[in-house]
Amino acid sequence: MVTSSFDYYAPTSVADALALLDQHGDDAKLLAGGHSLIPLMKTRLAEPAVLIDLGKISTLSYINEQDGGLAIGAMTTYSEIAGSELVQSNAPVLAEASGQVADNQIRNRGTIGGSLSHSDPAGDLPAVALALGAQLTTSSSGAHRTISADDFFVDLLTTALEPNEILSEIVIPALPAGTGTAYAKFANKASHYAVVGVAAVVTVGSDGTCQSARIGITGAGPKATRATGTESALVGSNLDDSAVRAAASHAGDGIDFNEDVHASGEYRAHLISVYAARAIRAAVENAS
Ligand SMILES: Cc1cc2nc3c(=O)[nH]c(=O)nc-3n(C[C@H](O)[C@H](O)[C@H](O)COP(=O)(O)OP(=O)(O)OC[C@H]3O[C@@H](n4cnc5c(N)ncnc54)[C@H](O)[C@@H]3O)c2cc1C
Repeated sequence: MVTSSFDYYAPTSVADALALLDQHGDDAKLLAGGHSLIPLMKTRLAEPAVLIDLGKISTLSYINEQDGGLAIGAMTTYSEIAGSELVQSNAPVLAEASGQVADNQIRNRGTIGGSLSHSDPAGDLPAVALALGAQLTTSSSGAHRTISADDFFVDLLTTALEPNEILSEIVIPALPAGTGTAYAKFANKASHYAVVGVAAVVTVGSDGTCQSARIGITGAGPKATRATGTESALVGSNLDDSAVRAAASHAGDGIDFNEDVHASGEYRAHLISVYAARAIRAAVENAS
């Protein structure tokens, strides 16, 4: 399969990439790791006339500690995130989920910015960004915007990004004391995409009750979403097995379940409760 022809640019600064975006408008597409965009181009589902490769912009690739949390450049790869001791200590669920994406080849090229910007319904990191309460910083010519992960994923392959914006940084707030995190995924055996995936961030008080919970879900519906019914059922509970199971039974509330060759909607509805319970139990265990 061959893509249609396109002009290729490899700017070395964000300012130059933004100038190219402004110049070419809707004809242009940003290229990060290419593991979602290039297959779309090969199947002619995307035919951009201009590709702006972000791969030579070294200032978009970093992992820094920030106020007890993290600031991560959009071009940081899954492998860099999975292997980072800083991520493992400050946002362990992000390292855990990044290590479960696809295979080595894809983890070595695919980026956190590409994953979030693509808003694939089966992508792992959108659910993790929601659970961690990530804030996403965008750049456009002369301006920056911060978008909460809660507002970023709009629909299937659709985000709150404007056509003239680059997602430049992902900020993860510090986790409160007593917080445990975990990611549980029922993976497609061939691609490892999530048939369903659940990211759980749970804060346990000194009396053993749940102080707060954020649960991010992927694979189930057209876009990653928070399981707010599960979150509110968890808060104030004693987190014993029946409380976790009861809360997890709400994980599919409000989701218009995907139906495809990998799983029926009914099967996904079943899986999401099972995997929500697993992720919550593991997060509670990790909190201690
Ligand atoms: C065989 C296979 C298996 C896979 N398995 C999994 C899996 O198990 N889990 C999973 O989560 N993913 C999986 N993926 C997808 C993979 O993780 C992609 O890398 C990811 O979805 C996109 O990241 P990328 O860096 O490759 O982005 P690209 O493909 O380069 O770009 C994706 C989209 O995002 C836009 N974009 C990229 N960066 C930015 C930016 N900084 N600002 C604004 N827009 C931007 C591009 O214009 C494009 O529209 C798989 C892919 C393949 C081919």
